[in-house]
Amino acid sequence: MASRADPTQGDPTRGDLGRMIADARRIVVFTGAGISTESGIPDFRSPGGVWSKMKPIYFQDFVASEEKRREAWDRAFAGRAGWVGREPNVGHMGVARLIHSGKASSVITQNVDNLHQASGVPARQVIELHGNASYATCLECGERHELEDLKTLYQATGDLPACRLCDGIVKTATISFGQAMPAGPMARAEEETLACDLFLVLGSSLVVYPAAGFPILAKRNGARLAIVNREPTELDPYADLVLHDEIGPVMTEAAPAN
Ligand code: ZN
Repeated sequence: MASRADPTQGDPTRGDLGRMIADARRIVVFTGAGISTESGIPDFRSPGGVWSKMKPIYFQDFVASEEKRREAWDRAFAGRAGWVGREPNVGHMGVARLIHSGKASSVITQNVDNLHQASGVPARQVIELHGNASYATCLECGERHELEDLKTLYQATGDLPACRLCDGIVKTATISFGQAMPAGPMARAEEETLACDLFLVLGSSLVVYPAAGFPILAKRNGARLAIVNREPTELDPYADLVLHDEIGPVMTEAAPAN
């Protein structure tokens, strides 16, 4: 269940990834839905995933329509997307070990579930391309609001969440459909990608651009590229090592606790 650019080398193993990690001086880890499905979080793009069960609310509609905002908050407070309240798994723990040992400088993630932070990776080392579903921010002034506080108020009054500082529209801190990619995290992700010598993809099918451009950027810049994903990805042919495998067991073996 594994492939490699050079067939004379034989199929790569978890041990090969372990050696690649040991040889690296500065790793950037890139994670997608696949690392969190092992925590029971559905991949929202897959059949049976969140967006096959409920229609996404576009950013423009959220801003323009009170009705859409109410729908969005009802969903968020009910935890309907299944993104929050889950626990990090051994895959997340493996990533956290790479960060704590100083091997990896940062985690770039497509996930909004906060599980890298929950596994002990400092928030400043988690670069979130699609935001974070575990809290909310004011669209006017950027003030952070906790979901529990908003929920309590919403359930007591029925009023839509508004910013306590400026009365602006408050929204979960995710990047919605129709919303621009966040400039700050995109710039930081590019910077980190260009500084690494190993770009390690865990559980992303690498189909969503611009995020999927980072592995290519790393490769062009001379870094090695390793991909761990259950299914083949479009970038497998460009990778130095590919494992079609479960992330938890791979990281337990390739990035063991000392
Ligand atoms: Zn505000």
